[in-house]
Amino acid sequence: MSSDGDRKTGERQTRGLLLMVVAPSGVGKTSLTRRLVADHQDLHLSISATTRDARPGEHEGRDYHFVDRAVFNKMVEADEFLEWAEVYGNRYGSPKKPIMEALDRGESVLFDIDYQGAMRIHAQAPKDTVLVYVLPPSLAEMSRRLHARSQDSEDTIRERISRAKDEVALWTTFDYVILNDDFDRAYAELAHIYHAERLKGGRNLWIAPLVDTLLGEAT
Ligand code: 5GP
Repeated sequence: MSSDGDRKTGERQTRGLLLMVVAPSGVGKTSLTRRLVADHQDLHLSISATTRDARPGEHEGRDYHFVDRAVFNKMVEADEFLEWAEVYGNRYGSPKKPIMEALDRGESVLFDIDYQGAMRIHAQAPKDTVLVYVLPPSLAEMSRRLHARSQDSEDTIRERISRAKDEVALWTTFDYVILNDDFDRAYAELAHIYHAERLKGGRNLWIAPLVDTLLGEAT
């Protein structure tokens, strides 16, 4: 990735990370990710562009950038997406510019995207990405939540559940797996992952020069 994603935090120069949180629909991923972003000033949500219609309660620019197919296709042609995909008949893409700008400030970006999108970004920037999968306690519970939110037809719910089964089987391709059977615990685990990942040696660019200084100290 062309951005070097470094910043000085006081005297501490750090490198941001790209946090991918993937889960089947109806697992409570949105609540987890929105809270993590609200609790961390140095973490920004990547707002995807999508060709699907806004659902009740969704807002332009907060949940998605809602665009028509012609606009989306122009953005694809202009190479404005880090990745894009067709999911359930609609197109979704992660705009590059705000992601690169956050990395340039040494800040991190959280992606609320599907499996294929997360893996595509991981392939482009393996050292910068952290892959987290959120498991539902059961498929029955997932189905109950999807019915309760009344946004999908029976066919779509069936498709989402069948897709969840395929995805869950790929859990070993993730760095971390969280079980969302208890929101507070799942949130604490997600926050721990973010904190620990930020502390990794390679992301803390201030360590090497400090160690050089320490090694050069007269004893
Ligand atoms: P929904 O329509 O329910 O908001 O999202 C449908 C699926 O598309 C979800 O799995 C969501 O994570 C995924 N998605 C949202 N934005 C993007 C994106 O920019 N890229 C990709 N690949 N998937 C996305």
